[in-house]
Amino acid sequence: MTAPSVPADLRHPALAAADPELAALVAAEERLQADTLRLIPSENYVSAAVLEASGTVLQNKYSEGYPGKRYYEGQQIIDQVETLTAERAKGLFGMDHANVQPYSGSPANLAVYLAFLKPGDTVLGMSLPMGGHLTHGWGVSATGTWFNGVQYGVRRDTGRVDLDEVRDLALAERPKLIFCGGTAVPREIDFAGFASIAREVGAVLVADIAHIAGLIAGGAHPSPAPHVDVVSTTTHKTLRGPRGAMLLSRAEHARAIDRAVFPGLQGGPHNQTTAAIGVALREAATPDFRSYARDVVTNARTLGEELAARGFDLVSGGTDNHLLLIDLTAKDVPGKVAAKALDRAGIVVNHNSVPYDTRKPFDPSGIRIGTPALTSRGIPASEMGTVAEWIDRVVEAARTGDESTVTKVRAEVTALMDGYPAPGLPLS
Ligand SMILES: *Cc1c(COP(=O)(O)O)cnc(C)c1O
Repeated sequence: MTAPSVPADLRHPALAAADPELAALVAAEERLQADTLRLIPSENYVSAAVLEASGTVLQNKYSEGYPGKRYYEGQQIIDQVETLTAERAKGLFGMDHANVQPYSGSPANLAVYLAFLKPGDTVLGMSLPMGGHLTHGWGVSATGTWFNGVQYGVRRDTGRVDLDEVRDLALAERPKLIFCGGTAVPREIDFAGFASIAREVGAVLVADIAHIAGLIAGGAHPSPAPHVDVVSTTTHKTLRGPRGAMLLSRAEHARAIDRAVFPGLQGGPHNQTTAAIGVALREAATPDFRSYARDVVTNARTLGEELAARGFDLVSGGTDNHLLLIDLTAKDVPGKVAAKALDRAGIVVNHNSVPYDTRKPFDPSGIRIGTPALTSRGIPASEMGTVAEWIDRVVEAARTGDESTVTKVRAEVTALMDGYPAPGLPLS
């Protein structure tokens, strides 16, 4: 799987010659990604094939419109690229229609609002501090200022979504649009449960599977396809494609979605990204990817058990997917302090609010960690005890100010990473 080692100036020879300054930064980032244990649940390592596709001359084309209905000539090849990618997306996720043009997850979600709502209409989504995404109607987002955002959360006692609360809110507020899914949700999403609420109030139901798309494609999380009207997803998280997004829908919504993306919100699609999404979708349809998706979940569950055994407080008590949300209150270390110490130790995580957090969003009580990237390196469940022990030592070191432990763990991390070369990083 891993490409042979190539020195930095030979990996990107034209870049090194034309712009040594930026070439050096790219090489440094490659080294950083190779040597660190990357536990950000929304990040991954794309394959060398996806990297190559996203750096092609498809970059040079303007293609406003859709295959067969463009505003520019010269689209003989681009039409085939986009059609192939859209067909793969429909097949993999089992939906009638796929729009593969959204620039990223946030614009994809805004296109959904444009397709179904008028300014001021009501949207029901999960609140940001409870695990939802900004674009599900949160106040500082355009979606929460131009629309009436009503927000559900998770129960204090279970850390899980309470569908009775969602139903009560839906009946009281009569939203036109309901989002399920989120960005810090460690548990399975009950698409059928949300669908019955959406039907009852006549709302369009959107599953935002940005985080779990790869798990769904790989059969490690139930699919929303039989239940929802629209599926919104990024392509760069567990799906392991380039930075981008897709909107999938039932046939009846195809026209509204397409018109919202273009000309409603965007101009020309990023064709090099479309091609790279196509490559990632082909990879995601393989048996190898199915084992990958299963291993991501096994690694997350095992890491959760190892952390819980060391006294870490996991929101909802564990995980069904690729991520863990950890409340560090009992460890007496704020999330940001822990995340910064872990970063110095070569373990990359993000600080995160936990449900009912008593601290501020920019200085919250928790951290969020995930296993997609480490699993792409082939790191097995048997190493999760080591990973949990590092996290434990560094969080304790952050509390006591013991920088020598942080330095020791940094060396141990690099040594383990050397044994599991990352895809797409042929470093020497
Ligand atoms: C990451 C994410 C998005 C936004 O994606 P961007 O590409 O960062 O704009 C939207 N929804 C959810 C649930 C996400 O996790």
